[in-house]
Amino acid sequence: MHLIKSLEKNTGYGKELASGISEKEAKRRINEYGPNIIIGKRNISAFKILLDQFSDFMVIVLLVSTAISAFMGEMTEAFTIIAIVIINAIMGFIQEYRTEKTLEALKELTAPTAKVIRDNKHLTIPAEEIVPGDLILLEAGDRVPADSVLLEAVNLQVDESLLTGESVPVEKYAGSDIRRGSSLPEKKHSVYMGTVVTMGRASAIVYATGMNTEMGKIAHMIHSIEDEQTPLQKKLDHLGKLIVYACLTICAIVSVTGILRGENLFTMLLSGISLAVAAVPEGLPAIVTISLALGVQRMMKRNALVRKLPAVETLGCANVICSDKTGTLTENKMTVRKVYTGGTIFQINDSKAFSKMTNLSRTEDLLKTALEIGALCNNSSISSSMERNGIIKKFTKKKNINFSAADISGDPTEIALLVAASKYGITESGLKEKYMRIGEIPFDSERKCMSVICRNNNGESFVFTKGAPDIIINKCTSIYMAGGIIPLTSEFKKRILNQNEEMAREALRVLGVAYKKYNSRGNKQEEVENNLIFVGLIGMIDPPRKEAAEAVMKCKTAGIKTVMITGDHKTTATTIAQELGIYKKGDLVLTGSELDDMDDIKLQKIVENVSVYARVTPAHKLMIVRALKRKGLIVAMTGDGVNDAPAIKESDIGISMGLTGTDVTKEASSMILMDDNFATIVAAIEEGRVIYSNIRKFIRYLLACNIGEVLTMFLGMLLGLPIPLMPIQVLWVNLVTDGLPAMALGLEPAEKDIMMRSPRSSKSSIFSDGLVFLIILRGILLGLSTLAVFVSIIYLTRDIVLARTSAFMTLVLTQLTHVFECKSERKTIFEIPWFNNIYLVLAVMCSLIMMLVVVYIPPLQVLFKTTALSVNEWLIVGGFTFLGPVVSSFIRFRQR
Ligand code: ADP
Ligand code: MG
Repeated sequence: MHLIKSLEKNTGYGKELASGISEKEAKRRINEYGPNIIIGKRNISAFKILLDQFSDFMVIVLLVSTAISAFMGEMTEAFTIIAIVIINAIMGFIQEYRTEKTLEALKELTAPTAKVIRDNKHLTIPAEEIVPGDLILLEAGDRVPADSVLLEAVNLQVDESLLTGESVPVEKYAGSDIRRGSSLPEKKHSVYMGTVVTMGRASAIVYATGMNTEMGKIAHMIHSIEDEQTPLQKKLDHLGKLIVYACLTICAIVSVTGILRGENLFTMLLSGISLAVAAVPEGLPAIVTISLALGVQRMMKRNALVRKLPAVETLGCANVICSDKTGTLTENKMTVRKVYTGGTIFQINDSKAFSKMTNLSRTEDLLKTALEIGALCNNSSISSSMERNGIIKKFTKKKNINFSAADISGDPTEIALLVAASKYGITESGLKEKYMRIGEIPFDSERKCMSVICRNNNGESFVFTKGAPDIIINKCTSIYMAGGIIPLTSEFKKRILNQNEEMAREALRVLGVAYKKYNSRGNKQEEVENNLIFVGLIGMIDPPRKEAAEAVMKCKTAGIKTVMITGDHKTTATTIAQELGIYKKGDLVLTGSELDDMDDIKLQKIVENVSVYARVTPAHKLMIVRALKRKGLIVAMTGDGVNDAPAIKESDIGISMGLTGTDVTKEASSMILMDDNFATIVAAIEEGRVIYSNIRKFIRYLLACNIGEVLTMFLGMLLGLPIPLMPIQVLWVNLVTDGLPAMALGLEPAEKDIMMRSPRSSKSSIFSDGLVFLIILRGILLGLSTLAVFVSIIYLTRDIVLARTSAFMTLVLTQLTHVFECKSERKTIFEIPWFNNIYLVLAVMCSLIMMLVVVYIPPLQVLFKTTALSVNEWLIVGGFTFLGPVVSSFIRFRQR
């Protein structure tokens, strides 16, 4: 189509093709073609949220009855009630709007990225900035960002099920369509937006973006964040309904008894309805959601990006973390330390290098060959990865996070090999002049090795292979020694494997390198990678992360077991696991082949004693997750490669790597580690626990308060007293105590011992561990204190307005005291820090002021039917307010 033609004009498919379009050109094109997005995103409308606040059934009933009472002449009261309803609605609106915005911002953060080359630089950019003509890079696990035609494809397979429904991956090849530039490229030469690369690598030129893509045509949507309700939210919805019915019944009884006893009909109707409005914790779902959302924000600050809200809850239940070793527990900064070749060990350090590149001694030549193989059988590039690092930093600054959810660089293992080679004067450009790559069998963690086929200037072709030594050695039949190439005897094999073991004990990650002359025309994998000549072992160090050992310790005290899962060698893994405190004497270490010999039942029997799994493939990870889950454990599992997705999905908390993870694993996961760091998982678990315990705190607070309110009115009626609170006062109590203090409880900082408790059971309800008792106890105390104040003041003064004002004040003050009790479930109010949550202090002060205002400012006194309290009343109010915490502390003290 003309699109391709215009591309052709703009890029010219000559040498420039490899350098991509320029940034300037990209800017121009994004203006011309628009952003690369599928339109049809749901937009939240602020107006709708606002309207929702008034559509609540109770609020409508209240408004209607207010209107009736207004007709009956109670104008001022009606207006005040309406004002309160509006303020309430605005607060609800602010809560919900903020929640929506937070969730929206999160969605943006998890937006997909794409790797492109522009101005000859490798960049990782948001997929939405891709324009037609962009040169993109794809590898296994990537989601294709836009419809593109392949320029180069190595063993490329793509899962197009999203478009075609066909789940078997299809092979794709580079074609010449691009150069013909006449029509849409053939299917087998192009890849489509939203499909997934399951194998191989490719580079491609984008020819359609956004709504012009195949995906755009069917207007499918890929959500990055799912709007799932958490189990807790669902349960609370259910509970909310029960509370509504219970309240309605009680309120009906209150109104009817009042009316029967000859109270004013409309006052009683309003009382009943106001009480219902006050007693139903209508803010609860919103507060739960916002505290989840704010928790998610706090996690983000600690580099954990939550993709699915339910994960926040599950995190608090986690009792096993299965973590990758490389990059998560270790720094993923590999440095080659030792090369073993021709029976000699070479220490690789910075100062040493060949004095001359020619006339090398025989042993030096062996070392050079080993390093050359490492550098040739390699897909990273030091120069470009450095540039990419710089760009990533810039990109993330814009996004305001420390790390981007993007691939920073090539494989650190391969970078280490390039760096080591360059220390000996072997450069990328030097090698490029000598060898041209004509084929590749990419690395994958199942095969644990990788090969390239290269042709030198004399037209001779070679296979260069590197990989796990135990794998490589079985593909070799001869060995390169100082004396020349000789058969690889079992004696040699033993020596090499011993050497491998010894290096592994020093925590080195060891790769074997081998090569052969390539002459066969057939390019079957088995034929390429056999009869190799063994050259040597390369050992690299990847130091454990400093913060990891501490995080493992923290897990231990928190009742969470850490398990290391790695494709690396058993001894290397065990050594590092020991350094980190994951492996203790007596623990089991299992390898992939041992797992293969085991059935699920057998694994299940020992799974709790295993702390290291080595030389495993992603398929084993699935087996491990299942065994742990069958033991009833809540499993967090990390992964980065495309094949890890099933295990991640199967686990309770799937965790993917922000830096090295593939799109597919990220999409399967419920949480992304932006820094790939193990300690971040632990931080997220801690936040998860804090959020859950804070939710318990404000549920406890809200329900106890509401019980107190209902009880005051209900008991008052039963005892034949005049109504203790006027309708408008009930509404004001609701406004003053329900909103801000409850929200502030959601912002409580972590209690000191939060990571010293064992994980809560995933089956336990939000009310477990005696919370119901606490709520009811405190609710009763609240109601009784208020009534006591009401009765005493009536008795002492016979002044009903004064008595109501005092009861009004008591009901609010007892609640504002109770909010501090809710800070801890273990400690009484006399043992907790009062002022460590500034929001709570401010919220309580704000509520106090709102109360004093309606009691002491004369015009408001008229509206709220209050009167100023004197010292005597304050003493009584204060005394009964104080009684609640004392009694409840005493009861709880005896329980300990
Ligand atoms: P992990 O990431 O847990 O270390 P991998 O599956 O990435 O496990 O690697 C498994 C093994 O494959 C490594 O121990 C190493 O021997 C080998 N290996 C790793 N990366 C490469 C690579 N790029 N090329 C060849 N072999 C590799
Ligand atoms: Mg790896």
